Amino acid sequence: MYLKRTFTFDAAHNLIHYHGKCEALHGHTYRLAVTLKGRLDSEGMVLDFVELKTIVNDIVLSRLDHAYLNDILEQPTAEHIARWIWQELNPHLSRPNCELHEIEVWETASSSVIIHREDLTAVRE
Ligand SMILES: [Zn+2]
Repeated sequence: MYLKRTFTFDAAHNLIHYHGKCEALHGHTYRLAVTLKGRLDSEGMVLDFVELKTIVNDIVLSRLDHAYLNDILEQPTAEHIARWIWQELNPHLSRPNCELHEIEVWETASSSVIIHREDLTAVRE
């Protein structure tokens, strides 16, 4: 069974070695979806939605919201942001009955990237 929760955060960035609108400093309202895959626990849950919200807030949103993303990532594309979120959240969401399945990061309402476990090595330079 899959369990998903979405979040938003506001952040600024500028992309280097890039010629387009994202080259200059600007901000986005990013949307994040965290999806877990797992079995039901004794309480009938994959993971308590409230606990998932607390983990995502504490581990990633507290650092990304209203931040300058270039302070965290050298090239803060949606792809790199998604990979960073995966790496930060994964240790906190690996449980006996569930694991992180998918991270999706929308940079705009119409554009997103999706990352799964098997993509981690594929996107590493
Ligand atoms: Zn941008």
